[in-house]
Amino acid sequence: MNKKAETMYENGVRSLSALSETQYESANNNSETSLSTPFDLTKRLRFWALQHRITQAAINDLLSILILAGFTFLPQDSRTLMQTPNIVKIYALSAGKMWYHGIRKSLQSIFSNLNCELTLRIDFNFDGMPLFKSSKVQFWPILASIREFPKVLPMIVGIWCGEGKPPLNEYIRPLISELEDLLENGTMINGNHIKCHFGLCICDTPARSFIKGVVNFNHEYGCQKCMAGGEYYLQSHRMSFPKCDGIRRTDEMFRNRIQPQHHKDKSLMEKLNIDMVSQFPTSDPLHLLELGVMKKLLVCWVYGAKGYRCKWSKQKTNDVSKLLEKFNKQMPNDIHRAIRKLDSLKYWKGVEFRTVLLYVGMVAFKEALSIEEYDPVEYFQFDSNEYIQVRKLSTHDGPSFETL
Ligand SMILES: [Zn+2]
Repeated sequence: MNKKAETMYENGVRSLSALSETQYESANNNSETSLSTPFDLTKRLRFWALQHRITQAAINDLLSILILAGFTFLPQDSRTLMQTPNIVKIYALSAGKMWYHGIRKSLQSIFSNLNCELTLRIDFNFDGMPLFKSSKVQFWPILASIREFPKVLPMIVGIWCGEGKPPLNEYIRPLISELEDLLENGTMINGNHIKCHFGLCICDTPARSFIKGVVNFNHEYGCQKCMAGGEYYLQSHRMSFPKCDGIRRTDEMFRNRIQPQHHKDKSLMEKLNIDMVSQFPTSDPLHLLELGVMKKLLVCWVYGAKGYRCKWSKQKTNDVSKLLEKFNKQMPNDIHRAIRKLDSLKYWKGVEFRTVLLYVGMVAFKEALSIEEYDPVEYFQFDSNEYIQVRKLSTHDGPSFETL
């Protein structure tokens, strides 16, 4: 973010403070989730069905019962109750279909009662999700949230649907066309000018590489923050970045392709006046730490790793597993998922690895690991870049951190 944009943002924050609580509430009250008086059964039912994800068939049954009971003003069909749009504009792309709603339209429905000028910073998220277990069809939503209004739910700007990943530039083209104009000229709502700034692009590691058009994290030049080259370990088929001395990437270096190996495609994102490095934060503990280092270490300890003396005995595995289970009974409320037994490690979710890594591992591994392997002081190493490295746990007889 350049200085000019920062000053504009500061001005925006100041103008935002002029926005009264009532106006903010009125902005929120336009959402479907608002249940203001007088009592409106249709609206309440719609909210209830959305909140509890009631199926169309169940809503239809409930509506027929309520109509028989005398509530004849209710609609007969769930689609009328839920105000399902009759026409949804979906257009075909080369490898899928796209629905694009747009940022302007979303802002207009959020701030329909607005009567003052605003400056907004908008953060974006892109990610893919499978729709069915037995097919390759995926949804790739484009989500946007307004930094200054954290209570407002994220806007669904567009959705791509197709098999596998969408073609990058076709997927983001409508968004970029809208953003080019929106970031420069803003938009008008009720005669008030709304300035918009691009905040951050918050994605998980694979999606971030995809949107930026750069190589994946496991490529030799896959680090999105520095130019350090990785080292490939043939034996374990792993790419590792043992040195932390790479030159920091900058927006200018990115756009000038100073390290061509880092780039894969030319993303339309580069058409925007944004910082292609600093506005794409790389904090992704789920993939890097929980499903990355911690999972790999546990898999090596429980199932073994070819060429390394690291596998725990059956007795040791059982002991640690029992201890982890025991912790489940004393877990604080903010940990929602219990840790399963180590013999079902393959089915563990990221949150289970997180619980082990951050909370119970330090105690559970004390008995299982030797004194040299276990050193709580070095359990985490925070370096100047705020990246966490789990080191001591993986040394000595076990596979080393670098070769995992
Ligand atoms: Zn780096």
